[in-house]
Amino acid sequence: SKEEGRNRFHFFTQQMQQDAERTAVIHTALRLALDLEAFELNFQPIVSISTGEIVRAEVLLRWKHEGTYISPEHFIPIAESSGLIVEIGQWVRKEAMKALLELQQINLGFGLSINVSMYEFWSHELQDNLVKSIEDIAVDLTTNPFPFESMVIEITESLLMKNNHHSIQSLTKLRDMGLKVAIDDFGTGFSSLSYLSKFPLDQIKIDKSFIQQSDSDIKQQALVTAITTLSQALGLDVVAEGVEIELELDFVKQAGIEFVQGYYFYKPMSKSELKTLIS
Ligand code: C2E
Ligand code: CA
Ligand code: CA
Ligand code: CA
Repeated sequence: SKEEGRNRFHFFTQQMQQDAERTAVIHTALRLALDLEAFELNFQPIVSISTGEIVRAEVLLRWKHEGTYISPEHFIPIAESSGLIVEIGQWVRKEAMKALLELQQINLGFGLSINVSMYEFWSHELQDNLVKSIEDIAVDLTTNPFPFESMVIEITESLLMKNNHHSIQSLTKLRDMGLKVAIDDFGTGFSSLSYLSKFPLDQIKIDKSFIQQSDSDIKQQALVTAITTLSQALGLDVVAEGVEIELELDFVKQAGIEFVQGYYFYKPMSKSELKTLIS
């Protein structure tokens, strides 16, 4: 009825109003967090199946707000929509690059993976900023050549596919610097296996939704095995995300995946914990 329609409309506008207020509040808090350095980095080890060693870690951003940690899944989208992600990203990269040098003092050849927001990958200008900010930090940090080859830039799949030509250019620039490039959350977007050969890549990270449904589904097993075989034939490293239990580890091994990240081995941890672990 008309009445229902009006109520629903009222509900939606109220909801939108609340969302907008919430977004504004979080934006202000994020701005403050940057100024007060209320962000932290966590590190989640990635294990090589064949050697059992930790070869690298993924850098994961943490925001401690009024005593509790807020998930990046909640605040990154807001940082993106307000543009603040550029500064936050810059901060993450600088801290991660410092951490990499520190970790390599203990374990030469150790690597770090960092997440780069879709937003920063979006326009030519931002993408140039991204390359430039990484170069600037490297110059700041050391007079020696920076070990770019030990850094992986993770970019989610959904974004890449939106602009093939531009994405290929951007990825090429990053790789020309010596950085490695990974497709994150592989399989969650409109994946096409042809992307694997079309894009200049070094690694794919198979999304945890594939790994975690793995126990019962034979088709899933076939799919993940095929993706892994193809990727490896193309010279790409394959990482399984979200491995929590032994069953999932077995699945991953059966599929021929070499690198594993997940609670089964390690949860995200502080830098000092990681240092102890790899020394
Ligand atoms: P992601 O890049 O896919 O990161 C992996 C997420 O899976 C992390 O969540 C990690 O804690 C979680 N995870 C790892 N192992 C397991 C497991 O065995 N089981 C389960 N259930 N989860 C596992 P987190 O740290 O909450 O990060 C969420 C997302 O936020 C990330 O997803 C990434 O998209 C984004 N993010 C995190 N840090 C940054 C950052 O510095 N910059 C940007 N742009 N995005 C970030
Ligand atoms: Ca990631
Ligand atoms: Ca992921
Ligand atoms: Ca994700």
